[in-house]
Amino acid sequence: MKIAFIGLGNMGGGMAANLVRAGHAVNAFDLSAEALSRAQESGCAMFTSVRDAVAGVDAVVSMLPNGEIVARVFADDVLGQAPQGAILLDCSTIDVGAARQVTADAVAAGYAMVDAPVSGGIAAANAGTLTFMVGGTDAAFARAEPILSDMGKAVIHAGTSGAGQAAKICNNMLLGASMIATCETFAMAEKLGLDLQTFYDISSKASGQNWSMTSYCPVPGVGPTTPADNAYQGGFATALMLKDLKLAMEAAISVHADVPMGARAAELYAQFDEAGNGTLDFSAIIQTLKDQA
Ligand code: NAD
Repeated sequence: MKIAFIGLGNMGGGMAANLVRAGHAVNAFDLSAEALSRAQESGCAMFTSVRDAVAGVDAVVSMLPNGEIVARVFADDVLGQAPQGAILLDCSTIDVGAARQVTADAVAAGYAMVDAPVSGGIAAANAGTLTFMVGGTDAAFARAEPILSDMGKAVIHAGTSGAGQAAKICNNMLLGASMIATCETFAMAEKLGLDLQTFYDISSKASGQNWSMTSYCPVPGVGPTTPADNAYQGGFATALMLKDLKLAMEAAISVHADVPMGARAAELYAQFDEAGNGTLDFSAIIQTLKDQA
């Protein structure tokens, strides 16, 4: 297939490289010359505009920072420029409302489109082991699925347009709240004089067990190897967790959902980010909880 890829940053770079590895011809466009030259090294063809990149392709994949940029790129340079038969896939994390609007505009212009945000970070993007949550019609999903499979280990149809973004922010709101709950628990266990490895051995086999503890333990030297064992470098940045929590709060307001734990997680991650910790892994928030008097 001939595929245009727009936005080859930390995530998109690896994803486009995996499309090349799977045998596709990939037309790359990014505003950053550095991102474009990395894409060229991995076998993509470099383009100097979105319009040129999408001409004559079978599919357009985007991996961009936010909903405003996605809406502008599709409205200005993809719709009416890509061939009518092309399938459009936006893999960025954006708000549910913007995702639905961009797809509605694409459908009105005669295209099929899905929202397909990802779970998994830069390492999974490079390794081709992302999980995609897809919103769109059955017909659009059937066309998007083989392309997404070349970049991930799981592709799940979440429902109609916007459902992929809804699933993504619901999942990450739960992750943010469960990470903070795990962090405050370990901080308190330590203050109560428990050996943290012993507490892990107990709780990981008891009813407190959860992913933030057993797959991503925020305590160095306890549980599997995680960013905590690497001074909280790498992993999933605090700034990105905060972005997803803000999207979750917007979504909660739009449907009058009562989310006290999600709201508190959003507040705590905002404070942690404002204190200059945006690039640290999100599990580093344990440091502030340990420091509390
Ligand atoms: P990034 O900033 O590294 O990459 C974004 C790229 O888009 C940059 O190279 C930038 O130059 C390019 N760009 C911006 N505006 C553009 C435009 N108008 N036209 C073309 N290119 C443009 O970000 P990232 O970490 O790759 O994240 C991309 C998306 O994936 C975001 O929506 C993010 O929330 C989501 N996401 C990221 C992670 C992660 O761990 N990094 C995990 C899951 C989801």
